[in-house]
This record gives sequence, structure tokens and C-alpha cells, in this order.
Amino acid sequence: MTIPVTYQIAPATRMANVSYAIRDLAVVADEVARQGHEILYLNIGDPCTYDFATPPHMIEAATRAMRDGFNGYGDSLGEPSAVNAIRARAESNGFQNIQGIMVGFGSGEVIDHCLTALINPGDNVLTPCPDYPLYGAVLGKIGAEPNSYFLSEENGWQPDLEDIAARINPRTKAILLINPNNPTGAIYSRATLEGIAELARRHNLLILADEIYDQLIIDDDCEHISIAALAPDVPVITFNGLSKAYLVPGWRIGWAIATGPAESLGDYLDAVYKLLRARLSAPHPFMYAIAPALEGPQDHLAIVRAKLRRRRDLTVQWASRTPRVSLTSPRGAFYAFPKLDIPEDDKQFVTELLQQQHVLCVHGSGFGQRPGTRHMRIVFLPQEELLEQAYAKITDFIAKRYQD
Ligand code: PLP
Repeated sequence: MTIPVTYQIAPATRMANVSYAIRDLAVVADEVARQGHEILYLNIGDPCTYDFATPPHMIEAATRAMRDGFNGYGDSLGEPSAVNAIRARAESNGFQNIQGIMVGFGSGEVIDHCLTALINPGDNVLTPCPDYPLYGAVLGKIGAEPNSYFLSEENGWQPDLEDIAARINPRTKAILLINPNNPTGAIYSRATLEGIAELARRHNLLILADEIYDQLIIDDDCEHISIAALAPDVPVITFNGLSKAYLVPGWRIGWAIATGPAESLGDYLDAVYKLLRARLSAPHPFMYAIAPALEGPQDHLAIVRAKLRRRRDLTVQWASRTPRVSLTSPRGAFYAFPKLDIPEDDKQFVTELLQQQHVLCVHGSGFGQRPGTRHMRIVFLPQEELLEQAYAKITDFIAKRYQD
């Protein structure tokens, strides 16, 4: 039976500002899969899709919490055992002046509340370009004006400090940095972080530091520095969680740590807490896995890093021998953002790569990039055999397409 349409439900006009490129390509992928092709997925930042296993003591802790009856709503800001473990870990990483800790449904939910409680329509947050698309989607939703600064590919994808300084205006409320970075794999130097802290001091800005990949440092000679530890006098909100380093993205557990002078942050944190209370709590039993994760055995991390190092090296070697591809070696996380020397738009490139070779990567323009440049983002989490197959197909695609 067809039901006659008599009226339409219109989405809010602000939804025109929200896009999420990573998911857009999924529609093309569904079509390719329906035609019976097996797709090699190099687009999913979920280690559990590949050969990475959740530490068993965390599964034990979460199931024990369910058996022990922690199945109602939990504490809105986070269960005390979780908050204490997050605080202890942050202090051991050099965080001082901790003013608040907030646990949510993945860091993504806390990021949404922290931006919502900060921004009036027309305000702006300086976000990196390229960026992790969640930020643009949330900022679009709450009516922020876009204001992004470039990451410099020629300088190992470090934030361009001059560009940040030039873009600060009276409606700028915060500077966001993602360190280690998605999509470039860069880790920020002490000099970069000091420069950003100085800009925040000079212009009374909040720093938002997304450090969800802080434990996935691939190169032994590379140090991850938290800006909250470096600049205890500056208001900073640091985002982190269990999804990536503790291999449970589906548990949806993340958090934010507020540091800096109490007087700078008090009213703002009260506003964030209101939103957290209104949505009741993060998943209660899974909050009981936070302390075991942070305080228990960390052996899995060495295994994860060793796999990432091999897969990163294989990716860099492939890029260095492939015409039209050049790559700044990623030093952390599990993403590579190679530059493509191609005549067409990178969305067309990745779409046809998917249709013809059944390899799924995301186009650089989905993350933002300097005008005139083209990239694609590769997730190098898959096993070496799968990566080798995928890279052979991309090489073949490039050779046939451009006849080099
Ligand atoms: N921040 C960055 C930079 C990410 O790459 C991701 C996920 O890919 C998130 C935040 C969200 O993570 P979650 O909500 O699972 O904590």
C-alpha cells in the first residue's frame, strides 16, 4: 500500500552547514558491494575491525559491573572510580590545575557539549585544515562561523602559527589542536605548542586539545607533549578516551579534562555540567572499565605500536615508489594523508578507485586542504597482506589512469 504524501517534514536550515565526508562515500561503497565486489576498507578508524583485540581484563571489568548491578544511570559527570583514574593518569602526564573531569559517550559527545556550551551563533573556533570532520559538523550545527588555519605539509604538517595569528578575530573563542593528528599522523613539537599557548594567552582564548591518539606514538624518538602540561596557566580542555588505545570504540567511553586557572573556567564548566546532567550519564557499566584500563596491564600497547610501525613503514615505502603520490611519514595514530599529483578533484579519484578497484579511501577535500592541493586519507590499520593488496590496486589504478 502506498501512503499519499500530504505534507513534508523539513529539516532545520542549520543542517545545511553539517556534512560528514567519511560517511558520504559509504553510499558508493554499498552500491559496489551490492554488485558483489569485495571491498578493501582503508577508511575505518576502528582497530576492532582489524586484528586488534580488546584487553581481556577490561572485558572482565565491564561484565563484572553488569553482573554487580551497575545497569541504571551512572554519575552524570563520571563514576568516581573512573574520574579518579583519569585524574591520576593526567597528573602522571604532568597536568596541573585540574578543574574538572567529564566522562561521556565517547570523546565525541563531550566535544559536542564543550563546543555547545562555548559558542554563540556567529562566534568561531580556529580549527585545523585538514580537520577531523566531527568538529565542523558540531560547529555547523550550533551556528559557529567557520574559521580554519592551515597545517603546513612542507613543515611536517605542523600548525601554521602565522596563519593562526592572522585569523584570530573578536569573535574567536578557542583554538583547536588535534595532536597526534587525524588525518595527517603528525605530532606537534614543543615549539609549536608553546607558540599556540602564547597566542591563547595574548588573545584570552580557550585551547581545545584532542589527544585521543596520545598513546599511539609510532616512532620511539618522538615525544608526545600535552599542551595542558606545558601551559598550566592557560585554560585548556583535553579530550581523550578508551576508543583508540584501549581498543573499545563501540563502548563509547571518552572524557574531557579541564585545566587552568579556576577563575577562568568556573562559569564555563558549570554550563558544560548542565548539558551533561540533562543527558543523565555515560554508559554506566563501561565506566567501570576505565580504572582497570588506565591502571591495569598495558602490555597490549607495545603490540599495537609494533603493528602500527610495520604498517606505517609499508605505507611509506609504497608511497615513495609510486608515481604521483608523496607522503609525509605519519609519526602517530594510524592515518596517512598522501598528496596526489593528479589533474582532477580528489573526490572523483577516490570514487573511481572504489568503483574500479574496490579500495575505499577518503578524499582529502572531505577533511579540508590548501586550495589547489589534492590528497587522500588512508587508514593503515589492516593487516600487511591486505594493505599490500590495496596498495597494488591503487598503483595499478594510477598507472592505467594517467599512463605514466
Ligand atoms: N577525535 C578524533 C581526532 C578522532 O579521530 C575520533 C574518532 O575517530 C574522535 C575524536 C572520536 O572518538 P570517540 O568518540 O570514539 O572517543
